[in-house]
Amino acid sequence: MTAPPQAQLGIPEVSFIGRTDVPVMVSDARLRGRVSAYPKATGPVYVDSGGFNELKRHGRWTVPAEDYIARGRRCQREFGTDPDGRPWLHALWQQDWMCERPIIEGGVVAGQRYAGTRAFLDPGKVLDYDQLVVVHQMMTVLNGKRMRELAPDLPVGYVVQGDTPDSYVRCVDMFRDYAGIDLTQEPIVGVGSVCARQNTDEFRPIMEALHARGLNRLHTFGVKVTGLMACRDLIASYDSQTAYLAARYLRRRMPDCDEHQSTARTCANHLHAGLSWYRDIDSRVREACHRPPAARRPAMKRRPVLERGETRPLKREPPTDGSETAIASAVQSSQDMVGTDRALDRDGRDQRPAPGLPHGRTRRKADNDTLLPRPPRRDRETGRRARAVAGTPTNARRPRRRAPAATPGAPVRARRAGDAVRTPTAPRR
Ligand SMILES: [Zn+2]
Repeated sequence: MTAPPQAQLGIPEVSFIGRTDVPVMVSDARLRGRVSAYPKATGPVYVDSGGFNELKRHGRWTVPAEDYIARGRRCQREFGTDPDGRPWLHALWQQDWMCERPIIEGGVVAGQRYAGTRAFLDPGKVLDYDQLVVVHQMMTVLNGKRMRELAPDLPVGYVVQGDTPDSYVRCVDMFRDYAGIDLTQEPIVGVGSVCARQNTDEFRPIMEALHARGLNRLHTFGVKVTGLMACRDLIASYDSQTAYLAARYLRRRMPDCDEHQSTARTCANHLHAGLSWYRDIDSRVREACHRPPAARRPAMKRRPVLERGETRPLKREPPTDGSETAIASAVQSSQDMVGTDRALDRDGRDQRPAPGLPHGRTRRKADNDTLLPRPPRRDRETGRRARAVAGTPTNARRPRRRAPAATPGAPVRARRAGDAVRTPTAPRR
């Protein structure tokens, strides 16, 4: 029997912080634009940096670490403290760099458009995917170092990133070597880039490798039930933003809806919908933790986990054409770009954003407009999309269809009673 992991409820609205005592996770994207005071918390609050959406949309961090830390300080102040005087802000997760392939390479995956960090880090396409994973790990480590320097007083949460079990362990060593941070001493460490891997055989080996390296308090972001159940003995806490999905797909108000003031047609953003997810998953996990783990099928043959200080050569040796310099310059240029208004298009060319759009919804809409060209109009009769012809605006209105011209000699319908009688207007003088 193992201690059950702690569930954290992802919340889409800042106001929920003051309305429930269950642990909640709120994204910095929700806190960013809020001018009025944050609510007084009534339970533990974890702040996520919103890195996935940031990198997905922009291909890089546009939020300076200083701004994020300032917001973290504000959270600690305004959320208040529990009865024992401990701040309700339990963790401020760092601004990490995920290593999922779509995040790095960009493009459209499963209907979602990713800007791709390669367009900024390696526009010349010198580095391969494995090397860009190293760049992302390095960026994560350097951000962790920066956040520790800026805010030794805040509960900053560090995130290990990677691709394979070995690369996650390498990231732990990078934290020690380049930032002087010993993750084995941290109260909680996040495991990034596992959202898409949780239902596969890759998830458990990663978690086992980190445990073997001495990281026994691990948080997984965006957990899915299958992965959670398979690794419940290796996870200290987990969160989910999908708590409201069931309510969204229900397409009507739930029978036990208590948001009497709300005029929404579904419960997609109601706290009670999230809480019902929370209670359900929490009881299932607790119940599962009291059962002995089911006999697993024999593990796939894996390479032994690296011991501390041991290294293993990369799958592919890095080319000796100065790629180390390319990695270093990619890291440097990306750091230079944080907080500036410099933007590159998908081919790596410099592109200024539209002027006069400081931040928030307007800018996001402008980004969408530039990133996602509107698909061509569908033909009314066939339903097919018009083929784009170079130089032809596909969104242009089609010419209005005219009535067929009367053919000479065709029979003319006789005028009936009720037809509008058109009187010729007098010629203008
Ligand atoms: Zn509701």
